[in-house]
Formats: sequence, C-alpha cells, structure tokens
Amino acid sequence: MAREPERPEGAAVPDVAEGESRDSRLVWNPFLGEWTGLAPGRMSRRELTTECPFCADLTSGRVPPGTRAWVRPNDFPAFRPPVGECLILIYSDQHDRTFADLAVADVVRVIGLWRQVYRDLAPKYAAVMSWETSGAAIGQTQFHPHGQTYGLSIMPDTLVRELAYVEQSQAAGRGCPFCAELRAELDGPRLVHAGAHWVGFVPAYARYPYQVRLTPRRHTSAMDGVDGEGEEAVELAGILPRLVRAYNAAFQAPMPYMLALHQLGDARFHVHFELLPVGRAPGKLKLAASSEMAWDFWVNDSLPEAKAAELRDLLAKERAE
Ligand SMILES: [Zn+2]
Ligand SMILES: [Zn+2]
Repeated sequence: MAREPERPEGAAVPDVAEGESRDSRLVWNPFLGEWTGLAPGRMSRRELTTECPFCADLTSGRVPPGTRAWVRPNDFPAFRPPVGECLILIYSDQHDRTFADLAVADVVRVIGLWRQVYRDLAPKYAAVMSWETSGAAIGQTQFHPHGQTYGLSIMPDTLVRELAYVEQSQAAGRGCPFCAELRAELDGPRLVHAGAHWVGFVPAYARYPYQVRLTPRRHTSAMDGVDGEGEEAVELAGILPRLVRAYNAAFQAPMPYMLALHQLGDARFHVHFELLPVGRAPGKLKLAASSEMAWDFWVNDSLPEAKAAELRDLLAKERAE
C-alpha cells in the first residue's frame, strides 16, 4: 500500500488552452492509497480523424523535412506543468506502419526518443511514464505509429509498490529483486528471450496470458542508463517488435497490447519493460472485468510456463522465416 505523499504544489491545474477544461486535477484516494487523475478536457480530444495530426507535423513544417522520429506536445494534455506534462512520441514518418513493422534502426530511434523524454522530464517530475497503447479495442485513437509519455509530479501506485519491494529486499540484504528475478528466470520454463543484454520472461504472477517483462541484465534505473547507440539498444530494438509480431501470430491478427516502460531516478530501481498484450487466444480478449477492476484481483486463464513455451516457438518460427 502506498504511503500518502506530500500533496504536490498546484495540484489543481490552471488551464491555458482555448476550448479545454480548466478542471484537470490529481486527487488522492485515501482508501486505496493511490492517486486518480481527472482530466475532463480529454473528452473532446480528436478521435479517428481522417487527417492525421502527426503527418501534419511534416507537411506543416512543424518538424524539419526528413525527420524520421520526433517528440511533440500532446494537443489535449491531461495535465499541465507543474502537475504534469504530456508528450507524444512519433515512431516513424510513415503513417501506415506499426511498431511491429519497424526495422531495428527505426526502433533504435524510438529508444532515442524514450531516452530524450526521460532526460527532459526526470529533473522536473517524480515519475516519467512512457508507453504505447496499440489497438482500437483498448482505446487507441490515432493510428500513426506513436507512443506517449507523462511526466507526473506524483508517483503512480505501481511504481510506489515496485520501489517499496526494492527497499524491502535491500533492507533484508537480498539486493535488487529485479536482478534476482532475471537470474532466476534465465534457466526456467518461463523464459522467452535470453539475449546478451536483455532477459524476457512471462512473470510467474502474469495478469495477461502473454505478458512479458523485459529487463536489462545490467542494473540501471532508467533509460538514460541504457546505452542508446550500442549493443544494448540494438538488441532491445530487435526483440521488442519481434515480441509484438509473435503476439500477432498467436492472435492471428494484430493483438491489442500495452507496452509500458517502468523507470525511476532512484538508483536502487531497475528499469524494465512490461508488455501487456490483451489477447488470450485467436480473436479472444482478456478484459479486465469485475474481479480485476473492482477488487484489483487478477485471474489469468493460462499458465505462464505454457504461454512462454508458445512464445518461444513463435519467436523461433519468426526468426526462421
Ligand atoms: Zn500519420
Ligand atoms: Zn537490478
């Protein structure tokens, strides 16, 4: 359970943009020990427009011609400084591609964006959350390949809980639990990827059947500690879209998924990616329903060992093609 943090200064956000809500705010839920964001201005955001606002960055000259990947402000930000900051990370200049279609060099550029937004936002905010939501079934509204980043003046509860476990593990003399977990999974049945620099596995406690945690072998707390040009970035740029392609093969269609980058400025933390694919079988989704939403009690309709074996096969087939 999260401890109640100091209420951030300016927790009610003065709004400056025309036509948007003036009521964005962060509200502490004392019952659950977590923050909720209220951002009514998001209700009027663009949805399924025919004109792509991200392609327009190139045609309007907002970014220089020839730019392949870039960061832009979210035109409908949930929060504004000093409470938070909302950015869009454009993965490619080509509208019709997806993250799974990107070549290694393209994903290395995306990794550069993750590092750039972390460096820009980490000095100002308690947490920098970068993610991608892929699939209309789970709320994607723009189909140009992109991700998002929030800098937030509070720590979201998942990071509070992960850091609390790190502190507990360190205090008990067991060191970093993420380092321990990847060592334990390396020879185990839940392993999905054992690279020179990254280890991927279906966590023993996975909520989604095909969930994968991808952790760098080298202990570093955030993306600014990952070598953005060298082998660490190249391996990461290869395995991330390969995992998404394996998901698509398992689902026999583009599988809706969330890709979340957990990182913190605290050196004890260990950066990792959480891939949360929502499919559980071809055409079938695992939706968070009453047990999950009303009790935060997740029931996974499969065993991580079985799904890890399936993913290993799909990755091997994909490599062979
Ligand atoms: Zn576009
Ligand atoms: Zn570690």
